[in-house]
Amino acid sequence: MRRAKWWQVKGDTMSNEIELSISCNDCVRRGTPDCADCLVSFVLGEEPDELVMTAEEADVVQLFTSQGMMPRLKFQRRGASTQ
Ligand code: SF4
Repeated sequence: MRRAKWWQVKGDTMSNEIELSISCNDCVRRGTPDCADCLVSFVLGEEPDELVMTAEEADVVQLFTSQGMMPRLKFQRRGASTQ
């Protein structure tokens, strides 16, 4: 599964149109200072909700974040281990 470590995959298809979603409602960091330096708020603004993109868009975003051109994703799923 592509990007399975930090992207939630909607549906089971592995086509080029696969939809990836990050929901702030599922993130333990919502409302914390971490949001100010998170990919989701960088894209959506001060009150982010859900970031959805195709696998191709996620590849571009990952390239930008790896080069320091965009903030990294701070998403941490509620109930997930902090390690
Ligand atoms: S995904 Fe990012 S912007 Fe959304 S709640 Fe988590 S840390 Fe904040």
